[in-house]
Amino acid sequence: MIVILGAGLAGLSAALHLKGKEYQIFEREDEVGGLCRSVTQDGFTFDYTGHLLNLLHPYTQELLKELLPDLLVSHQRRSAIYLGGKYIPYPFQANLWALPKEITKECLFGYIQAYCGEANAADDFLGWIYQVFGSGIAKHFMIPYNKKLWGVPLQDISLEWVEKFIPRPTLEEVINGALGIKLKGFGYNQEFFYPLRGGIKILPQALASRVGDIHLDKEVESIDTRKSVVVFKDGGEVAYSTLISSLPLDELLHHIVPLPGEINDLIGYLRYVSVLNINLGVKRDRLSDYHWIYYPEAPYPFYRVGIPSNLSHYMAPEGTSSLSVEISYLHSTPPSVEQVREETLSALISCGILRDDDEIVAEKILMIKHAYVIYDPFRRQHLPHILQFLRSQHIYPIGRYGLWGYATMEDAIMQGRDIVEDLP
Ligand SMILES: Cc1cc2nc3c(=O)[nH]c(=O)nc-3n(C[C@H](O)[C@H](O)[C@H](O)COP(=O)(O)OP(=O)(O)OC[C@H]3O[C@@H](n4cnc5c(N)ncnc54)[C@H](O)[C@@H]3O)c2cc1C
Repeated sequence: MIVILGAGLAGLSAALHLKGKEYQIFEREDEVGGLCRSVTQDGFTFDYTGHLLNLLHPYTQELLKELLPDLLVSHQRRSAIYLGGKYIPYPFQANLWALPKEITKECLFGYIQAYCGEANAADDFLGWIYQVFGSGIAKHFMIPYNKKLWGVPLQDISLEWVEKFIPRPTLEEVINGALGIKLKGFGYNQEFFYPLRGGIKILPQALASRVGDIHLDKEVESIDTRKSVVVFKDGGEVAYSTLISSLPLDELLHHIVPLPGEINDLIGYLRYVSVLNINLGVKRDRLSDYHWIYYPEAPYPFYRVGIPSNLSHYMAPEGTSSLSVEISYLHSTPPSVEQVREETLSALISCGILRDDDEIVAEKILMIKHAYVIYDPFRRQHLPHILQFLRSQHIYPIGRYGLWGYATMEDAIMQGRDIVEDLP
């Protein structure tokens, strides 16, 4: 029997691709979807922060067309950075024209110096920012924004993920951007898809409708690798021949009995950022035209604010708008939710998203424990040993936190597919 732990996108995708084989899926929550879920409250639909679909592989494009026929709407990104009281179109590095002239010059000059190879070759994220963007763009956007998001020194972060997620413009694009010559959008998310209605959760729900044997409210307590048995918090057990796990890797390892001391010692090296997601329903139409806005500056506690009601008018009742505010923190130093909520509301007013007299008609606060894996030299060194150990125990991790990476929804679906081909 193949046992799949976790009914997020990766676990559901594995089940979908296990055609004809016997399997069972076990999920802690009372619904499928994992991070790719939506909650509905007072007529508003909120995701676990904005989940936009970038489909780069023909395989997932076809699969999603089949799973969600006519339900995905294509959008052209409308995104900006709020800086010095102004909105700078995203990506910053290709829209320097929108900055005050002396900052445009500083950023352009720094970029050209870096382009000419005056910055040292980098092997950490901070060095890479200087090497690729130069000192002006680093100072005004890249460093403050990323410091806020990651909460760890940028020298500690390694580079395996950056090229896919941070658009690297050409010299011509930066110069055009500084002169205000219109560029066609670039970066992996210039066009994205989002469900017409129901929020992002309709994707895992569509997947779940194609697979069987999903057991909800089944939280893994321990995994006995000598007997090949998973034990659940409710006392139930299931025996497996192969275990596919999309549980966060650190938690999976804590469940394994017996866990060799040398693997146990590596758990502390798996570092991640958590996110406090404050969702608000506001009684005012069209608070902003953007899909999302970045906030690099210190007075704002959040690094990003999404406007879900701009993704689909079904996300919020008529005459209202919704906001999805993201605040990052390290799990070891959780914030006071009440204090951050107060600071967030006043910061939303000071940057002009909310007005003093706006009426908040819905509110949903979500805590995302594992949000962003921190890529660092420890991850690079130790992750292969952890994965190798798990395989030796017939445990096959998949998914964003199973494989401990920066996976998108599409990646999670692909990883669920690929593991099936990879099973012995
Ligand atoms: C802030 C944020 C924004 C994001 N935005 C985007 C975006 O715009 N576009 C995009 O493509 N991707 C985005 N992602 C990534 C996307 O959410 C993930 O790639 C995808 O949902 C991961 O699916 P998964 O199945 O790997 O993991 P998960 O969804 O985490 O699934 C794991 C499952 O395991 C279950 N589980 C955990 N512990 C136990 C246990 N002990 N027993 C039983 N079950 C358990 C969980 O409940 C969960 O259902 C974002 C992620 C975050 C954090």
